[in-house]
Amino acid sequence: MIREIKINYDACLRCGECVKSCVFSVLEFLDEQPVVVNPKKCSGCMECVRRCPSNAIAVSEK
Ligand code: SF4
Ligand code: SF4
Repeated sequence: MIREIKINYDACLRCGECVKSCVFSVLEFLDEQPVVVNPKKCSGCMECVRRCPSNAIAVSEK
């Protein structure tokens, strides 16, 4: 299953919670913002979505 991870940078607070919550290393903090680096590793666990304080990250199935 390929999943699409979208970060809304207008809403993102750069808190890093999504990066810390992703145990599959899908996300990394680069240049002081979260970046999707390994979308194929996403399990769809939605932990990043749950932990984001500003609803800035969304995960959907392609
Ligand atoms: S849904 Fe889970 S595996 Fe996918 S990016 Fe978020 S925390 Fe990582
Ligand atoms: S948890 Fe949400 S607000 Fe925090 S860095 Fe990730 S996307 Fe941005």
